[in-house]
Amino acid sequence: MALIVQKYGGTSVATTDRIKAVAQRVARYLSQGDQVVVVVSAMSGVTDRLIGMAKEMMDLPTEREMDMLLATGEQTTIALTAMALHAMGIPAASLTGAQAGITTDGVHSKAKIRNITPAQVRAHLDEGKVVIVAGFQGRTNEGQITTLGRGGSDLTAIAMAAALEADLCQIYTDVDGVYTADPRVVPEARKLEEISYDEMLELASSGAKVMQSRSVEFAKKFGVIFEVRSSLNDNPGTIVKESSADMENVVVRGVSLDKNQAKVTLENVPDHPGIAASIFKPLSDASVNVDMIVQNVSHDGGQRSTDLSFTVEKTDLAKALKVLEAQKERIGYQQITSDENICKLSVVGVGMRSHSGVAAKLFEVLSEAGVNILMISTSEIKISVVVQAGDGESALQKAHHAFVGG
Ligand code: ASP
Ligand code: MG
Repeated sequence: MALIVQKYGGTSVATTDRIKAVAQRVARYLSQGDQVVVVVSAMSGVTDRLIGMAKEMMDLPTEREMDMLLATGEQTTIALTAMALHAMGIPAASLTGAQAGITTDGVHSKAKIRNITPAQVRAHLDEGKVVIVAGFQGRTNEGQITTLGRGGSDLTAIAMAAALEADLCQIYTDVDGVYTADPRVVPEARKLEEISYDEMLELASSGAKVMQSRSVEFAKKFGVIFEVRSSLNDNPGTIVKESSADMENVVVRGVSLDKNQAKVTLENVPDHPGIAASIFKPLSDASVNVDMIVQNVSHDGGQRSTDLSFTVEKTDLAKALKVLEAQKERIGYQQITSDENICKLSVVGVGMRSHSGVAAKLFEVLSEAGVNILMISTSEIKISVVVQAGDGESALQKAHHAFVGG
C-alpha cells in the first residue's frame, strides 16, 4: 500500500467532467490499495477572472483581500472533487490549506510555507478517506489566509508530499511530461523519462515553464522525487529527481528558448573599481532581475573605459532604463541603448560537468546556420547565447538536432 500525493492543475480540473475524470483516476489508485491525497488548483481561468473582478473594484486592492478572494478558486475545486468522489460511493473529505495545517509567513500574495502539521489529513486518511487539499493557500500563525504566488499549487503538493513522507508525488498537467524542447517549435522533441532538479530549474529559467520554479527548488531541498504527467491519458510521465552518475552520461538533456529577454548596453563606462556596483545596485534596489552580463576589455588610451551589456526581462526594461538614466552622471557612461529584438537560447545538461566541447559544438552549429551570437554565458550545466529574435527558432531546431538528435 502506497501513500500517493496527486496534484491536478487548472486544465485538469477545468470543467465538471474533467473533475469527474480526476475522481475516476483516484478510484483506480484506491482499487490497487493505495491511499491518495489530492491537491487541486482553481479551475482553469478562474484565478485570472477573480483578479479581473478585483480590478473592477479598485486599482490596487489590498493584498489581504486579494488572498481572501483568490483562495476561493481552489476552495471551489476541492468541494466539487469531494462531491465527484462521493457520487461514486468513495469516502472523501476536502480541506482548505489552513485545515491541512499549512502555516506560512505573512507575506500576502507570495507567502512562504513555514511548516506543515497535517494532523487532519492523517486523521481522514486513517478513516479510509481520500483527502482533497486546496493548493496555493495557507494561513499565518495569526489565522490570516495567504496565497503562495501564481502556480503555487505545485508547491502545496510537493510540500505536502514531503510532510507526509509520501511514497509517490504525481503532478498532473496538460502535457505528457518534460520535453527535450518545446514541441511546438521543435517537432522532433521527445518526452524525457527523467530529468534532474537542476536541469529542470535551468530549463525553466530559460523559458520552458512546466512547473513553478519555487516548487522544484523545494523538492530538491527536501529530496521529494516527483513525476510530471498528463491527466488526459495514461502515458508515463517524466521523473524529476537528484542527478545520478547515470544521468551524466547524457551530455545535453534539453534545449530552450527564452523570448522574454531584452538587452541593455552602456557605452563608454569609466573603468575603475566600484563601477559594476554603481550600475547593478540601483537595479537590484528597484527589483529588476538581471540575467546575463557581459563586460568588454577596456579600451586603453587616455581615460580607460568599457562597454557593458546585460539582459533583463522585457517587462522590466522600461524600469531598468529609467533607473540607469537617473544615474547617468553618477555612473558616468556616455550612452545607453537597448534591444528588445533578441532571445536567449540555452543548452542544458548535467553531463556537461564531465564532458567538454559542448560550447564549441554549439558555436559551430550556429556558425554553420549563419547565426550571429550577441552574448554568451555558461554555468556548470548550461550554455546560453543571446541571438537576434528572428534567428531564435531555427537556431533552437538546429541545436536540438545537433545535441539531442531526432
Ligand atoms: N490558481 C493559482 C494560479 O492560477 C495557483 C495554481 O494554479 O497553481 O496561479
Ligand atoms: Mg497551474
